[in-house]
Amino acid sequence: MFTPISGRAVLVTGGTRGIGRAIAGVFCGAGARVAIAGRDPQAGAAAEAQLAAAGGEALYVQADVSVASDVQRMVDAAVERFGGLDVLCANAGIFPDVRLSEMTERDIDELFAVNVKGTMLAVKAAAPALAASGRGRVIITSSITGPITGYPGWSHYGASKAAQLGFMRTAAIELASQRITVNAVLPGNIVTEGLDELGPEYRRKMEESIPLRRLGEAVEIGHAALFLASDEASYITGQTIVVDGGQTLPESLLALEAQ
Ligand code: NAP
Repeated sequence: MFTPISGRAVLVTGGTRGIGRAIAGVFCGAGARVAIAGRDPQAGAAAEAQLAAAGGEALYVQADVSVASDVQRMVDAAVERFGGLDVLCANAGIFPDVRLSEMTERDIDELFAVNVKGTMLAVKAAAPALAASGRGRVIITSSITGPITGYPGWSHYGASKAAQLGFMRTAAIELASQRITVNAVLPGNIVTEGLDELGPEYRRKMEESIPLRRLGEAVEIGHAALFLASDEASYITGQTIVVDGGQTLPESLLALEAQ
C-alpha cells in the first residue's frame, strides 16, 4: 500500500496537452494540487477546466520554459497558490522532424532551448521550494529516442533527450543534500494528438514493432511519475524508468517474428 500523496503541490510543465496533461490528471486523481504550464492560453484554460471537472484542484500558468523570467514566474505562481511545491514534472518538450542534411542552426537552438535549457531552468527555479518541502521530487520526461535508440529526423531531439539525463545525474547529486530526488521517465511510443496526425499506417507499423503489440497510453507515463513522486520511491535518485511496452528489447525485427 502506497502512502497517499493527497494535498501535495505539483507543477507539470507542458501540462496542457498530451503526456503532461495525463500526468497532471493522474496526480489530481491521487488528490494532489496541480499547476500546469504551457504557452497556449486556450489549451491551458481547457486543460485546467478538464482537470477541475474531474474533481482536481488545478491552476494553469502561461509560461515558455525557454525563458528564465517565465519559468521563475511559473514556479512563483504555483508556490503562491499552493503554499509550497513538492513535485516538479519537467515534461515540456518539442519534437520537430528534420534530417541532418536539412537541419539549420536555428532548428538546433530552438529545440535545445525548450528541451534542455527549459528543463534546467525549471529545476533550478523550483529547487528552493522543493528543498523547503523536505521531500522534493523532480521527474523529467525524457524519451527512449536518444538515450537508447535513434530515429531518422530526430538527431537533435535524441541529443536533447540524452542531454536531459546527463543533467539529471549531476542535479541528483547536487540536490541530494536538500532531500530532493531527480529521476526520469523514458516513454516509448505514446498515443497523443501528435501521433494521431501520423496516420493509421504509421500506427500499425509501430504496434507491430512493440512486444506488447500496442502503443502506450499517456496515463501510463503518469503512473510511473506518480511512483517516483511517492514516499516509497524516496531512496531512488538519478535513475530512469523505461515505459515502452518492451519496444527497446528485440535485437531485430526477426526477434519479434520468431515469437
Ligand atoms: P505534446 O502533446 O506536443 O505536448 C507538449 C506540451 O509541452 C504542451 O503542453 C506544450 O504546450 C508544451 N510546450 C512545448 N513547448 C513549450 C515551451 N517552450 N514552454 C512551455 N511549454 C511548452 O507532446 P507530448 O507527446 O505530450 O510530449 C511531452 C513530453 O514527452 C516531451 O518532452 C516529449 O519529448 C516526451 N515524449 C513523448 C513521446 C510520445 O510518444 N508522445 C515519446 C517520448 C517522449 P504549448 O505548445 O502550449 O506551449
